[in-house]
Amino acid sequence: MPIRRIIHIDMDAFYASVEQRDNPELRGKPVAVGGIERGVVAAASYEARVFGVRSAIPSSRALRLCPALVFVRPRFDVYRSVSQQIRAIFAEYTPQIEPLSLDEAYLDVTDHLEGRTATRIAQEIRAKIREVTALTASAGVSYNKFLAKMASDQRKPDGLFVIPPEAGADFVASLPIGKFHGIGPATAARMEEHGIRNGADLRRQSQEFLTARFGKSGTHYWNIARGIDNREVRPDRIRKSIGAENTFMSDLRDLELARAELRPLADKVWAHAEKRKAAAKL
Ligand SMILES: [Mg+2]
Repeated sequence: MPIRRIIHIDMDAFYASVEQRDNPELRGKPVAVGGIERGVVAAASYEARVFGVRSAIPSSRALRLCPALVFVRPRFDVYRSVSQQIRAIFAEYTPQIEPLSLDEAYLDVTDHLEGRTATRIAQEIRAKIREVTALTASAGVSYNKFLAKMASDQRKPDGLFVIPPEAGADFVASLPIGKFHGIGPATAARMEEHGIRNGADLRRQSQEFLTARFGKSGTHYWNIARGIDNREVRPDRIRKSIGAENTFMSDLRDLELARAELRPLADKVWAHAEKRKAAAKL
C-alpha cells in the first residue's frame, strides 16, 4: 500500500478569534464566547486560556478564574460562513475532505500532490486561510488521520507539525493517554486503572487484553499505539442527525418562554429534513 498523505487543518480558537477579528476592542483581551449567567464557555481566546479558561467549563467558573474575562454572544451564522470559506480553500487542493466540525477537517492529498509535498500544500492552505479570512489555522501532516490530528495540536497557534512515517510510533509512545483523539476522559481513566498512562504503556498491552476491556475499540487502540490507522478520509460521511441550536445569555427558567424559543428551532430542523427528503421516527 502506498503511503498516504493526510493533512488535518484546525482553526485556532475559532469562535473567539472570529470575535476578536470583527471587534478590535476584543483584541489582546481574554474573551469567552458563550453565555455569561449560567451556561458554559463555547470557546476561549488564547489570552483567556492563560488563566485556565477552556471550552466546556461553566461560565461562572471561567469568571472566577479570570475576573477580567469578556463574554461575547456566539454568532453561529458568521462561524458557518467562515467555515464555508475555508472549505472552499480545501477544495482547491483535494475533493477528499472530511469535516469534523465547522473549524477542522481531514484532507487526503495523496492523489493530488501534483509535484508538491503534503507539507507544502498545508503551508499554502494556511497562507490562503489567513489571506481570505484574516484568521490563523494550524496544520498537522502525517500518513494517517490519527497522527495528522495529533500533529495539528503540536504547534498551536498558527503552526505546522509533520510526523513522517518513521517517527509515528515514537510520537505515539510519548503521548499521554488523555491526549489521544478518540479516547475520552472516561476511557482514559479506565486505562489509567490498568497502568496505561501513555502510548508506550498502551503498546505493551495485547490486542486480546484491549478488546476484552474496551470492546470493538480495543483493536483501534492496539493499532494507534503502533502509529497505525487505516481509516479513510470520508468526504461522503453519512449524516445521521439534523439539529438546530441557540445559545442564550442566561437560562430560560420560564416554561412558556422556553416553549416559544423551541418552536423556531423545531421549524428549522423540519425545514432541513424536508430539504434532504429525510424521514424520522420517534
Ligand atoms: Mg479549532
